[in-house]
Amino acid sequence: MTSVMETYKRLGIAPVEGRGSWLIDERGDRYLDFIAGIATNSLGHGHPALVEAVKEQAEKLIHCSNLYRVPLQEEVARMLTEATDFDRVFFCNSGTESVEAAIKLARRHAYRTAGPEKHEILTFTGSFHGRTYGGLTATAQPALHEGFAPMVGGFVHAPYGDLEAARSMVGPRTAAVLVEPIQGESGVNEPPEGFLAGLRELCDEHEALLIFDEVQTGVGRTGHLYAYQGVGVVPDVVTSAKGLGGGVPVGAVLAREEHAAALTPGSHGSTFGGNPLAMAAARAVLGVVREPSFLEEVRTKGAILKNGLRELAARVPGAQVRGRGLLLGLELGPELAPEVFRRCLREKVLVNLVGGKTLRMAPPLTVSRTEVRYALCTFRGGVEALMEAAPAEAVVA
Ligand SMILES: *Cc1c(COP(=O)(O)O)cnc(C)c1O
Repeated sequence: MTSVMETYKRLGIAPVEGRGSWLIDERGDRYLDFIAGIATNSLGHGHPALVEAVKEQAEKLIHCSNLYRVPLQEEVARMLTEATDFDRVFFCNSGTESVEAAIKLARRHAYRTAGPEKHEILTFTGSFHGRTYGGLTATAQPALHEGFAPMVGGFVHAPYGDLEAARSMVGPRTAAVLVEPIQGESGVNEPPEGFLAGLRELCDEHEALLIFDEVQTGVGRTGHLYAYQGVGVVPDVVTSAKGLGGGVPVGAVLAREEHAAALTPGSHGSTFGGNPLAMAAARAVLGVVREPSFLEEVRTKGAILKNGLRELAARVPGAQVRGRGLLLGLELGPELAPEVFRRCLREKVLVNLVGGKTLRMAPPLTVSRTEVRYALCTFRGGVEALMEAAPAEAVVA
């Protein structure tokens, strides 16, 4: 029995230590961590640059509040703006908080330029934007809304990837379109070619802000500092969190000057947001991840993993590989996926089962090529063992 609220379906494993891409549990068993705190431990576990930064800052100053200037915030904001198309950063503590801030920024910008009628936010089915009321309302998954009504007003939802549906829902009332460049939580879904560029055009046409929720895809995850940089569509606002602090809670919203100006002093804030400890962690992470050679290596390791998964998928009818960089999904169907997942767990390789039919992989960005191959061997072994047990006609030789 535990006194912790039962808000999670947890596995029995209890990791208490980590080294690089490996977690060590209470019993001393080692696991290859191919989910990395859900795309959060970007530098793996115990990375010396991050550990030193946090230790040193903890000794100096942990927190001081936003009543004062926080030089480390200015430094991290500069690192982020220099490496992207944005001019200003707001710091918070989580993904859902970064989504809240982006929604508030978009609505206030629309209010100041066009008036209160322009307040609608368009989001997409299968999305995930967090658990607070704004983020939850934006999350177009009815199952997650159950029992929590009424939701926040002024949100509309279109099918992910359906540009025509989006077109019919964007108009003069639209303040913003909020979209994940790759949907993480609902199974690593990539939009069809041209969808994000089409949303960019729609937003330009109706003077709505295009917000990319890059809480999962950001900070090097797709082999670019932010995924938009690999897609070639520049949004107006980007939300960031998960990998940004390498495990220390940090969230951020990136915007251009003309939009950021909508959040005037006193209109938004956070007690913990951007505190020195969090900023020291983000500075250490960005110091490593923003290096072009590091990002190139993420793309290379991502390609090795994706090619291996594709070879595997070619042997399973209906199987699919999706994603970019080191955010990949292997869809194996509702029968095979849970079995392979359980086998991986027995073999001590940690992945995540999403939607009951897809294995999601998000290893540390620092994972070695050897560890990638080791994981691939485990996935292959799992699929082969289960296919042998299955009827012969299910196997495409
Ligand atoms: C995880 C996630 C969130 C929520 O982040 P929290 O830190 O759990 O609040 C929001 N958006 C996306 C795209 C995510 O993947």
